Amino acid sequence: MEKPHCYWCHRYHDIMIEKQLLKVTRWGIKTVMETELFCSEGCFINALPYLHRYAKYSLGSIIAMVLIIFGIVRSFSISRSLHLDNDLFLALIIFPLGFLLQVIPFTTPEAVQYVGLKKGILMTRTIGIIIVFLGIVLLKLSRI
Ligand SMILES: [Zn+2]
Repeated sequence: MEKPHCYWCHRYHDIMIEKQLLKVTRWGIKTVMETELFCSEGCFINALPYLHRYAKYSLGSIIAMVLIIFGIVRSFSISRSLHLDNDLFLALIIFPLGFLLQVIPFTTPEAVQYVGLKKGILMTRTIGIIIVFLGIVLLKLSRI
């Protein structure tokens, strides 16, 4: 059997602490109590703020994300019907996406399994920063 890793830092220790966590299922619909392993009390405390925020806002932020992605996919027709420059429209909808990923840095169960929650959050935040940067570039490109 694979050695268990710490849910937060992904390190392996001989003695692990079992903790009950309130977790949200993949699509943010339902919260469930699950047992996860931590290498220390400190790692457990580090994971709590993210898990609490995620349990509270996951459904709302997933809906927001779906709307933004729909907006990106349909940007040409939406921006035309709003008489907006397409680059400006894209910049306006991807800024909130970038900020959303800072506040609620989504991780997938797979990411947590392979790198741990700490690195998963860092990866999502990095993507969020790239998206905000892209928004700035689009704003520069738009004719305003
Ligand atoms: Zn740990």
